[in-house]
Amino acid sequence: MKIILFDIDGTLVKAGGAGVRALDHAVKAMTGRPNACDSVQIQGATDKSNFENAFKVGKGRKPTKKELAELTDKYVARLPAEVEASVKAGKYFKVKGVEKFLVKLSALPGVMIGLGTGNLKDGAFIKLEPSGLMKHFAFGGYGCDSHHRSEVLEKAVERASELAKAGIKPGEVFVIGDTHRDVEAAKEAGYHSGVVLDGFGEPRALMRSNPELMAKDFSDLRPWLIWLGLEKDPRGVSRGTYICPDSPIEHAHYGRTGMDLNDIETGIQRLRAEKNKITGGKKPRTGKAK
Ligand SMILES: [Mg+2]
Repeated sequence: MKIILFDIDGTLVKAGGAGVRALDHAVKAMTGRPNACDSVQIQGATDKSNFENAFKVGKGRKPTKKELAELTDKYVARLPAEVEASVKAGKYFKVKGVEKFLVKLSALPGVMIGLGTGNLKDGAFIKLEPSGLMKHFAFGGYGCDSHHRSEVLEKAVERASELAKAGIKPGEVFVIGDTHRDVEAAKEAGYHSGVVLDGFGEPRALMRSNPELMAKDFSDLRPWLIWLGLEKDPRGVSRGTYICPDSPIEHAHYGRTGMDLNDIETGIQRLRAEKNKITGGKKPRTGKAK
């Protein structure tokens, strides 16, 4: 059994800021403060904590239980209009290749695909609606389950286990996201982690979180399928049995991902490009004292 959990924002779709606008609207309606989300680190966090933090920006204190419920209702009521506005403005996208990936995974026996998202359940469905991807997901863990992303993922696995009427080991769970928070939550729960670089993740934080697989998007499914153990690795050997590596680095990388020297080179180039984006191409100073 393989359980594959997908994050939504930046991993399945980009909703053009619809969630932020809906939350801004709800906070303004309750506290009078516009653009509260400008002061909140939204990406990768659960809705529960985003709602509390945005409310706090507007009101100067955390919301009561009743206020949080009201804020949630206002958000959910506003979200469909904001998602529609993104679609109309041409700012709603599916992440490249994700549909093909989901169709392929859905057809495989022994594979269950679900959501592992910080979005509230209602919010998740509303955001995914225009994409037509919802049909692939029979279960999920949501932002309404917990403040903590790892618990959200565990809840998704619990639901998968109920559906499958079988126990699921952590090693059978694969989490796919776009921020370091997805990776950290997966690791905390003992699950595998892979990320797309084309989402909302901050490159340096993503690199530090060290997922098992980093790929631009899903346009090339081969590394994803090898990582998931659904396709044979290109050299026809099983993971962990590669006995003549060209280098220890290649050995470690190949054993973990099934990718070879060319893939490593491409990966290094990609890391350099990301690093240049951060440093502006400046070389780090060497430690010579003057
Ligand atoms: Mg995300």
